[in-house]
Amino acid sequence: MTEIERHAVDVVVIGAGGAGLRAAIEARARGMRTAVVCKSLFGKAHTVMAEGGIAAAMGNVNPHDNWQVHFRDTMRGGKFLNNWRMAELHAREAPDRVWELETYGALFDRTKDGRISQRNFGGHEYPRLAHVGDRTGLELIRSLQQQVVSLQQADFREFGDYEAGLRVFAECTVTDLLMDGGRVAGAFGYWRESGRFVVFEAPAVVLATGGIGKSFKVTSNSWEYTGDGHALALRAGARLINMEFVQFHPTGMVWPPSVKGILVTESVRGDGGVLRDAEGRRFMFDYVPEVFKDKYADNEAEADRWYTDPDHNRRPPELLPRDEVARAINAEVKAGRGSPHGGVFLDVSSRLPAAEIIRRLPSMHHQFRELADVDITREAMEVGPTCHYVMGGVEVDPDTAGSRVPGLFAAGEVAGGMHGSNRLGGNSLSDLLVFGRRAGVGAAAYVASLGQHKPAVAARDVDEAQRRALAPFGGSPADGPPENPYTLHVELQQVMNDLVGIIRRSDEMELAVKKLDELKRRARNVAVEGHRQYNPGWHLALDLANMLAVSECVARAALERTESRGGHTRDDFPQMDPEWRRALLGCELVADPAGEVRVSRHEQPLLRPDLLALFDLAELRKYFLDDELTGHPAWRA
Ligand code: FAD
Repeated sequence: MTEIERHAVDVVVIGAGGAGLRAAIEARARGMRTAVVCKSLFGKAHTVMAEGGIAAAMGNVNPHDNWQVHFRDTMRGGKFLNNWRMAELHAREAPDRVWELETYGALFDRTKDGRISQRNFGGHEYPRLAHVGDRTGLELIRSLQQQVVSLQQADFREFGDYEAGLRVFAECTVTDLLMDGGRVAGAFGYWRESGRFVVFEAPAVVLATGGIGKSFKVTSNSWEYTGDGHALALRAGARLINMEFVQFHPTGMVWPPSVKGILVTESVRGDGGVLRDAEGRRFMFDYVPEVFKDKYADNEAEADRWYTDPDHNRRPPELLPRDEVARAINAEVKAGRGSPHGGVFLDVSSRLPAAEIIRRLPSMHHQFRELADVDITREAMEVGPTCHYVMGGVEVDPDTAGSRVPGLFAAGEVAGGMHGSNRLGGNSLSDLLVFGRRAGVGAAAYVASLGQHKPAVAARDVDEAQRRALAPFGGSPADGPPENPYTLHVELQQVMNDLVGIIRRSDEMELAVKKLDELKRRARNVAVEGHRQYNPGWHLALDLANMLAVSECVARAALERTESRGGHTRDDFPQMDPEWRRALLGCELVADPAGEVRVSRHEQPLLRPDLLALFDLAELRKYFLDDELTGHPAWRA
């Protein structure tokens, strides 16, 4: 085998979205030599696509807001299945992370008196999303990158080398983690352009690889989101949790077919947009669930008054959490009341003056004009659910972001727990910064604790990683016809869309598990032509194994959970079931040749009494049993 490029660092961060960059900045600031590896161009990550904003209880627009209210909203949104310590840290630390971004050079939209402006979003009690028009993610990534550059300039001044402390490896895909006796020892990958291999020797790896949306046919996610970090973690021995919870954003474009799934930001509803059926009826009033009836209006007059007088009116039902709105749209379409192309209408044109729409929602205005020939200042958009976000991910310690595998950390969308069964809009960008920073701190502390006892990369593991990566070039497989990675991908997406999609049923998911098994078997025969220089077929062949592993986790966990909660809706078990109120499903890889996913059940610890006290006892009784609430102050009263 030819000589392989090698780099020895303290921390490797896989992913250069918000979580990865914030982790890298922190690790470098703590004196760690840090590498950031990303399979797309530097700056091209989901984070850059985020539109609506970043949730942080700064109280700039409504002074009643504070971390406790944000914590409550997050727990309600996740149907109390959230890792409550993560939700607590997130709510407490998000404002500092937003202010810190301005010290890196971000500039958010302002209120009239010059403070960071905040907008309404589904499930958030007060206007809470700091934003830059509908291009917030761009500003977030731009300012994090600016901070990376300024750290590199500082390194140049000190060491004469811009990359002495922090180096970016862009368009480089990590395919394997390298281990030493159960501890992380590094990572193995390839340059996408040349196909050449590269080894990172590092005692700590932070996974920040984002989501899994490309396993589904209709998705807002772009090509990179193939669950690589989830699969790397599984193969290294980590546990994934909550994989049954996949968020279908209620509003993706439905027409024309070439753009189906592209996101229509929730800011449209936050800024006054309403959902209507084919006859023009605002149908969301029919879908306010019992647990939310005291918070959401049941008539148009009150809902409309809320925009100007939120203290004396209940919120419009269009701003219910995403899972509720997505299910409602699905039900309307199924009942034959949908729009011509199989969605519903989202109308902002009759709610705001044209100039205001263009000022507040410039990207949406542009997106619909260019892609669908629709002027959203004059006509309604057609929208429907699209696979958007995965709540499930690597099980981590909330304070350090460490997984159960020594040296392996995870932050951002690839980590699980924070959002429970359903994420509130805007809570991802804040999650990235809060836990990205914590992962950087955790990884740096771990490396420092190792002293001289650092793990080492074994030559045979590098050979094995190389063999695995080259397998698709192997020619004719022994046990069946060669398989095309594109065909397998299309089939996988169809299976996930049709059988493990927004509404699920036992028989369909059993069929999905069978089909996934069969796809996994066929994927072993995947074969590509040509050579390693920029070969998209080869790249997809490698990604496919990851998508199959995470899809199996989603399908098996979804089959197991016999209730409906958040981003997991079952036709055959339509209610939330108290039996599952604290149950977490963990996915691990069984170390047999088939690499099958095993699902096991674990119990979420009880909420700390001071956190219980933030809720009314009556509300908690909708979710928990009496003997779990004895720590609540009203219990003794
Ligand atoms: P990402 O930003 O997804 O970055 C992942 C990184 O990992 C990329 O650099 C990628 O190249 C890299 N990577 C992946 N696999 C590998 C590999 N094998 N090797 C090397 N590198 C790899 N959330 C909000 O809070 N507010 C919003 O307004 C909002 N709007 C959104 C709009 C859209 C269209 C979408 C798709 C999402 C939106 N979200 C929003 C969700 C949010 O943007 C994402 O959840 C979040 O950005 C994920 O960030 P991350 O840092 O975890 O990963």
